[in-house]
Amino acid sequence: MSVAEKGGLTALLRSSAPPTAEQLLRFESWLRLRYGEDIALDWEVDASVRGGFTLSVGSDFFDWSLEGRIKQFSETVRDLSGKGERLLPLIRSAIDDWNPEVAPREQGTVISVGDGIANVSGLDNAAYGEIIVFDKGVRGMVQNLSEGRLGCVLFGDTELVKAGSFAHRSGRTAGMPVGEEFLGRVVDALGSPIDNGGPIRAAGYFPVESPAPGIIDRKSVDRPMETGIIAIDSMFPIGRGQRELIIGDRQTGKTTIALDTILNQKDKDCICIYVAIGQKNSSVAQLVETLRRHGSLEYTVVVNASASESVSMQYIAPYAGCALGEYFMNKGKDVLIVYDDLSKHAIAYRALSLLLERSPGREAYPGDVFYLHSRLLERAAQLSEAKGGGSMTALPIVETQAGDVSAYIPTNIISITDGQIFLESSFFRSGQRPAVNVGLSVSRVGGAAQTKAMKKAAGTIRIDLAQFREMEVFTQFSSDLDEATKNQLTYGQSLMRLLRQKQHSPLQMYEQVILLVAMLNKVMVNVPLSEVNLCCESLLNHMRSTREDICSELSAIGVLSPELRAEILSTAKAFVDAAWPPSLRR
Ligand code: ATP
Ligand code: MG
Repeated sequence: MSVAEKGGLTALLRSSAPPTAEQLLRFESWLRLRYGEDIALDWEVDASVRGGFTLSVGSDFFDWSLEGRIKQFSETVRDLSGKGERLLPLIRSAIDDWNPEVAPREQGTVISVGDGIANVSGLDNAAYGEIIVFDKGVRGMVQNLSEGRLGCVLFGDTELVKAGSFAHRSGRTAGMPVGEEFLGRVVDALGSPIDNGGPIRAAGYFPVESPAPGIIDRKSVDRPMETGIIAIDSMFPIGRGQRELIIGDRQTGKTTIALDTILNQKDKDCICIYVAIGQKNSSVAQLVETLRRHGSLEYTVVVNASASESVSMQYIAPYAGCALGEYFMNKGKDVLIVYDDLSKHAIAYRALSLLLERSPGREAYPGDVFYLHSRLLERAAQLSEAKGGGSMTALPIVETQAGDVSAYIPTNIISITDGQIFLESSFFRSGQRPAVNVGLSVSRVGGAAQTKAMKKAAGTIRIDLAQFREMEVFTQFSSDLDEATKNQLTYGQSLMRLLRQKQHSPLQMYEQVILLVAMLNKVMVNVPLSEVNLCCESLLNHMRSTREDICSELSAIGVLSPELRAEILSTAKAFVDAAWPPSLRR
């Protein structure tokens, strides 16, 4: 507090019983000692102050009530227990040595509150991102710092905060409880369980916003994060620690791709976190049910900030999920985190910023909306061995309008991620599901992480498909095609069929390799299009039952030797030729 400000200081003493004249005198001399001048002291009786008094001097607040002393004591004990020492002797010595201080707490006043935002005056030393505690325990986070005024977003029951009520600094930034017990649970953006599964014991708190690992702490992505979706694993392989965007219009199967990837992590020693932002509660419930049914919930945490939650909860949810992911990553584990979806996150942030009276920029988003997502996605990493070798792979999802990838938010996020899986609504409608657009999708770093067998098996599939697409356009209107062109077209069509895959049925790497080897070597040529998927399925069944050796060798070694390839080919050819004799081909 500056000297100039002190001139006008007044002090207000509140207590449940009127102070005696002697007590008042002692207060006045204490004030003189502390502030170095005479301060006018007023007092009032306040029944809510029990067993002591409170004293406000300017923005300093001294809490000497029973409640305040208990709070001070419990904070002391919490600080001690956080040091991980044995609690009982600590409590004993804490009680022996405890000496309540008359330390001031900064106190502010709520000027206005509404739409989950509170404007507070008087907390001049509060920092950006600090948690502010309001009356009745409601918490808020500082988001705007302007002269003499703070803008806070409120979490929890915002109805309890009223204009004129008090607010105090906590001195801490927002944190997320973390721990092993979160696995298999559904929690809100503050880490509280919302699945009727009882309380969760946290192993600690991680800051919701934390700097991304630096370049020294990282190493390059070199292990695959298999999605189990043949269209992705063969052509756009994702590596552990990579950030791959899933982008497409509404209802094009974006969530399903992320969900299938989570299902595919079963028995792969990978922890999954699904963050739902602005989704319907019913769809999240359905997703949780699917996870449970497939036995995948036990290694998954669902963080849900649904559309019915306040924008502040939706805003903080991905960071909270990321903090949880960092807990596991720092322990050397592999983590997969899905942000579903970041366009709704940007919209929540836009609402929040407009309510905080920040000036709107392009498409009414605030100027820092790029930073909003870059500081989130930068936290995905493959840590170096020295840091434990853990990883966090991020699959952000973005919804486009009418396939427009050049809109503001999509271009931002495309430029932050290491590639994108582009989903096309026309494909989806025509039954080509997953509706991956091969031409527009890309994965920039995953190639190095692809299994050797997969890399070899996938061989020319991208080029073959590109040739097919081009030829398809050219031949659309001509009827008399030469034999070679016709063959190429039917081959391309069956390739597209191979990429069709039922939802919630991820394929193992060895299964994909077998199918790719068979298909790219034209074993299934001229099998009627409607039967290609059936053919693939029965081929896999046949392989599993008769050539277990091939399957296990592929899974174990992950290398496709020329001999192995020849064996797969001969077995597949014999099987398909027997099941689809020339009379059954087209
Ligand atoms: P939204 O924009 O509403 O979030 P979305 O893009 O996430 O939609 P999904 O919810 O994943 O799309 O899928 C939409 C519908 O399509 C769902 O009913 C889902 O079951 C179905 N679907 C998705 N993928 C497939 C698939 N490979 N095979 C069959 N059905 C699918
Ligand atoms: Mg979805």
